[in-house]
Amino acid sequence: MITFENYSFQNKKVLVRVDFNVPLNEQQQITDDTRIQNALPTIRKIMKNGGLPIIMTHIGRPKGKEVESMSVKHIVAHLSQLLKTELVFVNQYKEDAKAKIDAMKMGQVAILENLRFTESETKGDIDFAKQLADLGDAFVMDAFGTAHRKHASTAVIAQFFPNDKMFGYLVEDELKNIDKILKTGEAPRTAIVGGSKVSTKITIIESLLEKVDYLIIGGGIGFTFAKAMGGKIGASLVEDDYLDVAKSVIAKAKEKGVELCLPTDSFIADAFSNDANVAYADIMNIPDDWMGLDVGVKTACRFAEVIEQSKTILWNGPIGVFEMPHFSMGTLRVALAVSKATRQGAFSLIGGGDSIAAINQADLADNVSYISTAGGALLEYIEGKALPGIEAITQS
Ligand code: AMP
Repeated sequence: MITFENYSFQNKKVLVRVDFNVPLNEQQQITDDTRIQNALPTIRKIMKNGGLPIIMTHIGRPKGKEVESMSVKHIVAHLSQLLKTELVFVNQYKEDAKAKIDAMKMGQVAILENLRFTESETKGDIDFAKQLADLGDAFVMDAFGTAHRKHASTAVIAQFFPNDKMFGYLVEDELKNIDKILKTGEAPRTAIVGGSKVSTKITIIESLLEKVDYLIIGGGIGFTFAKAMGGKIGASLVEDDYLDVAKSVIAKAKEKGVELCLPTDSFIADAFSNDANVAYADIMNIPDDWMGLDVGVKTACRFAEVIEQSKTILWNGPIGVFEMPHFSMGTLRVALAVSKATRQGAFSLIGGGDSIAAINQADLADNVSYISTAGGALLEYIEGKALPGIEAITQS
């Protein structure tokens, strides 16, 4: 397979699919440019090697329509500042993109309008993929965040570049780091899964049971497990359809010798609000009308103890309703433990918007080994699913 490092970009127009789906405020200003920053090394390398990057991205979910607030125009000035060069904005829906790009000089940078302004993108339309492919000589896939989608620009386009397709630095890095967790991670290996629902995390929980020594369950998910074990969980978040699934996870963990760490106590509230009355309860005995919004201190300490003696750590999903300061203790305690373990030599990977927000809130982002910005794609990759955007590059 061609690698990004050894490919010669000299005099080539290079289509680069990035994930610049950055949050914009009401004035269309970028509020967090992490995703842009992450892809800069790839773009810079193409420029430095004498190529012309043609940047392709989507922003938001315009559902096939032109939505002014989601135009790529809004990120051009910032990107241009970061790359220290003027960008040529090309609206492929309104002008002759090929003629405009062909008239550009090597070393310059082009950026296309939001790919999702047409439904052809998300439908994976081959004619749209071909139109995009016609603009360049090579294709670089550097959008891990959308690699689980079979879209025109993420997967379908690759077939037009049988000898000139490759991953960029970011995707190479993501795959290398996730594989460190999945394939080469040193024991003890610990996965921490939190968040609101068992239903959205069950596939990852089941696949992690094959790969880890400790599986920590936090967040809303913990209450479905508590109820499955006969607990009284009051008005806490629960998925009654998943009680049997939770029981089977408990049985499977035992069978596989995985230590399942479930919450044993909880900070409970009489309403889903930061201003609600707060009390402390055993997770198996929460009064009616009260809901568990965070783990209790005993649980947080046990989670931290397991994490701090681990050598490989994966964390996805908050341990409580961390957006509310009164219920952020469990999540922050986990963030601290992950950071401590990393300082002691563990390899840690954090994925998913909420866990990243939590580690940033604790100001500990620099103390973890790798932060994956991909949400769904990360989960699907860990679950062992084939990602179309990855396969399109690795398969001939
Ligand atoms: P997810 O998108 O499934 O990873 O869920 C993240 C959300 O789960 C966050 O917004 C948390 O506030 C929420 N969450 C975490 N713990 C609880 C809980 N005990 N009860 C309700 N929601 C929770």
